[in-house]
Amino acid sequence: MAVFWMDGKFVQPEEAKVSVYDHGLLYGDGVFEGIRVYKGKAFRLDDHLERLSDGARALLIDVPYTREELKAAVTEACARRPHEDGYIRLVVTRGAGDLGLNPRLCARATVFLILDKIQLYPAQTYTDGIPLITASTRRVPLVCLDPRIKTLNYLNNIQAKQEALMAGKLEALLLNTDGLVAECTADNIFLVKKGRLITPDTIYGALDGITRRVVLELARQMELPVTVGAVALTDLYNADEAFMTGSGAEIVPVIELDGRKIGSGKPGPVTQRLIQAFHQATL
Ligand code: PMP
Repeated sequence: MAVFWMDGKFVQPEEAKVSVYDHGLLYGDGVFEGIRVYKGKAFRLDDHLERLSDGARALLIDVPYTREELKAAVTEACARRPHEDGYIRLVVTRGAGDLGLNPRLCARATVFLILDKIQLYPAQTYTDGIPLITASTRRVPLVCLDPRIKTLNYLNNIQAKQEALMAGKLEALLLNTDGLVAECTADNIFLVKKGRLITPDTIYGALDGITRRVVLELARQMELPVTVGAVALTDLYNADEAFMTGSGAEIVPVIELDGRKIGSGKPGPVTQRLIQAFHQATL
């Protein structure tokens, strides 16, 4: 059974509703987090709460709960499904206002969370890897909206996802408006070349993903050389291995891009080591 918390209390599914005047719905005005729950414990909760409050602050959304209160809500939600794995969607919207854009007319931010199950990709994807296409839809550039803010507006990501589905694939890679690799529709991207782990810097349009942070930490523990910088499409085409990371997806090997095999066309050894280390870290 899913668990719902809304504006300060746990509610039944039929009570978990927002106003049609909510600017999260009318304008995508808000921020959110997707948090993994392993065995009844929220994974990297502090990181998620920090990113949420940074995003809200950047958008001048006043979150009517302290970080401790949000943490308590998440912890209590998890306690209602003890020892279970799951996924939490924690959402903060600008709140209900009028039909204009003016955020100042929204009296109070709406805050809710859903704890439910998640399976983003078929189980086989994790063992066999996933093919990607490069979407023609580009990542929203920093000069328009900082891609590090996890806002409720995912339209360009959704367009890219549509492109993937229309091409018969499950996922797409997004480039930024300069043509550099940014990330996938809801996951960060990594590549491995000659034993070095490489991922785009957030400045090129990647979300500062929590799973990305964990993978970078694990790589340092494993003494893998790491580069966080600019990545071109050619770097990915010529990579030995590639994989995607996200709270919902975890680590997914990428075996093909635009019909080109990446490396051997199978999940690579570094990817597999990182997947194992990641599972250890979630225990
Ligand atoms: N990029 C985007 C656009 C995302 O929505 C997400 C979250 N699903 C990620 C990357 C991965 O971030 P995280 O590891 O924090 O879930």
